[in-house]
This record gives sequence, structure tokens and C-alpha cells, in this order.
Amino acid sequence: MREYETTIGLEIHVQLKTKSKMFCGSDNFSVDAKPNTNVCPVCMGFPGTLPVPNVQAIDWTILLGLALNAEIPKEFNFERKNYFYPDLPKAYQISSATNPPVIGGSLKIFAGGEEKEVHLHHIHLEEDAGKLVHDKSDNALVDLNRAGTPLVEIVTEPDMASAEEAKVFAQSLRSLIRHLGISDANMEQGNMRFDINVSVRKKGAKEMGTKVEVKNLNSFKMLERAILFEEQRQKDLLEDVKKVAQETRGWDDSKGKTLSQRSKEEANDYRYFPEPDIPSIATQEIVKKMKDQLPELPQEKAKRFESEYGFDKRLAESLADDIEMAEYFEKTLEHVENSAKDSFDKRKYAKRVANWMATELVGKLNETSNEFAEIRVEPENMAELAIAIEEGTISGKQAKDVFAEMFETGKGALAIIEEKGMKQITDTDALEKIIQEVLDANPKVVEDFKNGKEKAFGFLVGQIMAKTHGQANPKIVNEILKKKL
Ligand SMILES: [Zn+2]
Repeated sequence: MREYETTIGLEIHVQLKTKSKMFCGSDNFSVDAKPNTNVCPVCMGFPGTLPVPNVQAIDWTILLGLALNAEIPKEFNFERKNYFYPDLPKAYQISSATNPPVIGGSLKIFAGGEEKEVHLHHIHLEEDAGKLVHDKSDNALVDLNRAGTPLVEIVTEPDMASAEEAKVFAQSLRSLIRHLGISDANMEQGNMRFDINVSVRKKGAKEMGTKVEVKNLNSFKMLERAILFEEQRQKDLLEDVKKVAQETRGWDDSKGKTLSQRSKEEANDYRYFPEPDIPSIATQEIVKKMKDQLPELPQEKAKRFESEYGFDKRLAESLADDIEMAEYFEKTLEHVENSAKDSFDKRKYAKRVANWMATELVGKLNETSNEFAEIRVEPENMAELAIAIEEGTISGKQAKDVFAEMFETGKGALAIIEEKGMKQITDTDALEKIIQEVLDANPKVVEDFKNGKEKAFGFLVGQIMAKTHGQANPKIVNEILKKKL
């Protein structure tokens, strides 16, 4: 095989979580609604109705642009993209791709151990179409609940060179969007969908390879698989000295391959023209307002976690990446700060809580396939647990059992420790007495230890733990035992 290189660009649709739709007052979210109940004459495309732009959707599009260091033109325009389809009752979609609200911008990603900047071409705001549903007798039914819901379309430059980079970019973008609070970007509910452009060429070739588009991928896994498949398919064609056709393909997830949908010759001419019912939107005031609303972004948060808590880069990034996890972590730490008895060592507690979340909590979530939002352990209870471990009330091993029950029942750590009678024996006088009894009962083992048999020490510890039903604080046991021996 010759050496090839891949060029990938993405178009990402994200449904904004505004209360109402893009150009009317109908409900934006209709996950559980019956078909055609979240509709009105505007989004059903009745003649004579007028669109009124959703101010929140415009604000959020510009907020996203600012978070991506993009240029915001002084004004932008809505336009009509004309095509006929049964789920598009107006026979045109209102979009803003020609004079978009956001131009350029970029996002840094870390893929394959390297930092890379992925540039954006632009971001525009538009309305979604409805949905066609096919029933058992193969009738096509139209559901207009989704018609007119606000979408931002993020169009990248062809800056990615592998499926891995494209996936990491998409994940980083989702994390940013969730930090901004402008969309849940929940892929199962179709809040975030990807179209990809993939082209392959021989390494060093002057001309770009032929661009193939694959539409409507709605998970990171699909995104990755579709790119890997296209890469291989195009390489195989080039190896056979065959031409790659410029076309749009669809992804068949069950077959794990892309299938031709339409060639370039059949491409639509959308007859774009300015939307006559909506004037140009001036942006300067919005930019001012949104600059004040920019929250801490994931990459800034990760840097702060590194410096404030002394985390290594990986732990800081994995925690800061998920807004819910990051907020949970800092809330827990706040509770610890308010109730820890010892002189509070912030970094020490931060590491304990973060590591516990990254291993035990994430482990439990994976085990039960629960979402983070569903967990029943309140930050306050997580703080209780961290303090109990740190202050030696329970051992690390006991803590796992306590946490398992917290996860299951939502009960507080201290309540469970009390219930299970788990409190560690930290009373030195009581422990001294028990340890002396164990030593008196095992003179030969003591003799062995004094003759240099290291293993004897472990045996004695085991005897002491057995005698206290595992409730002796191991650290104190070790200290006393060493002293006595
Ligand atoms: Zn409506």
C-alpha cells in the first residue's frame, strides 16, 4: 500500500435549548409530546404568517462564537434556502449561512498526545425541519414538532487528519457547549448531529482528494466508524486506480458502511435569497452583553484545577471536561472545607475527592450504566465520606463498601458507618491492650520477628485485625506494634 493522507471537515448541528422555537412561540422541546402538538401556524408554514426571531437563540449563537474566539460581524442576515420536502411546509428553510453571525474561530484539541488547533469556517443559525415517520403499512407520516426548532450549524475548516482527531474535536466542542449552557447536546435525543467531509490523497499530492460527504451521524462512535470506513474505501479505490466519486453518502450503522445517496450532478440549487420578513440583526450590543456572560471554559477550568489543586494534567482535564462532574467536585470540596475538623488541607482533600470520583464513582456509573445526573450521592455526603477516610474513621476498604451503599440508597456516609458499626478503633489505650494480648499469645512469632523474620510482623497485624473484627485503625496498629516489638 502506498502512503495516503486524510483530510476531514465537519458540519455539526446543535439544537439550542431555548424555551420556544426559532421563529414562533411553540415549545422547543417535545421529546415526549404527541406528534403535531407543539406547533402553530408559523412553524406549520401557513400563508401570511410572519417569523419573529428568538432573541435568546441569537444571543447564544454569539456567545458560542465568543467562546471560540471568532469574529462577530456588525450585522448578519437571515435568508431563505428553497427546497421542497414533505417535512418542510414552507418549502424553504430560514438560515443564515451566507452572511452568518459568526466567522472563523478555533478550538484547541489534544489528540494522539499532541495539541492541535482546529479552525472554524463559520457558525450560522437556522431552523430545523420536521420529521417523517414511516408506519407499519409503509405510509409516510409528517410530525412537525421539530419544525422550526433552533439549530446552530458549526462548520469547520478541513483541519482534521484522522478519525481520532475528528472525534476528539467533536467531544471537546460538546463539552464547551455544555459549559456554556446553550444546549444539552444529548445525542440520543438528536440535540447534536454530525455531517462529515472526508477526502483521501496520496501523501504529498498537490491536489486535494475528491470530497465525499456522509450525513446524519448521531454518536461519536458512528462519527469515528464512518470516517474509518470512508478512509479505507477511498484508499482501496485509489489503489485500484479508480476515481472516487464526489457524492453524498449515508451511514448504515448495522452494516457498518456508507452507501451512496446522491451524486454531485443531482445536487440541489437552493436559490438562496434574503428573508424579506426579518431585517438585518445588529450584533454590537449583543456582543457586549454576551462578553459579560462568558463562563469559565473547560480548558481554562482544567488549567485552574492544575494550579489550584495541584492536579496532574490528565486528572484536571478529565474532571474539567464534564461541567456536571466539575461542579459536583467543587461543591463537595466546599462542604469539606465547611466541616473538616483537622486543619483543612485543600490540596490533599481535592486529590482524594477527585480520585475517588474518577475511579469509584465513574466505575459505579459504568457498572450501572447510569448518567451522572442520576446519581443519588449528594456532594454533602461525598464530603462526609472523604472526611471519614481522611480522619481515619474508616479504612479505605470499608469506604468502598460505604460508598456502594451510598450509591445505591442515597444515604449519608456517617449514617451508614453508624448502622454498620464500622467505626474504626482509634483509641490508643484500647488498641495497646489488644495488641499486648496478641503478643502474649504468640511468643514464638515475636521471637521469629526479633530473629529477622519480616513476615512475622504481617501475621501479628492479621491477628490484631481479626481480634478487632477489622475495625482497628491500621496506621495506629502499625505504630504501636513497632514500638512494642
Ligand atoms: Zn410554532
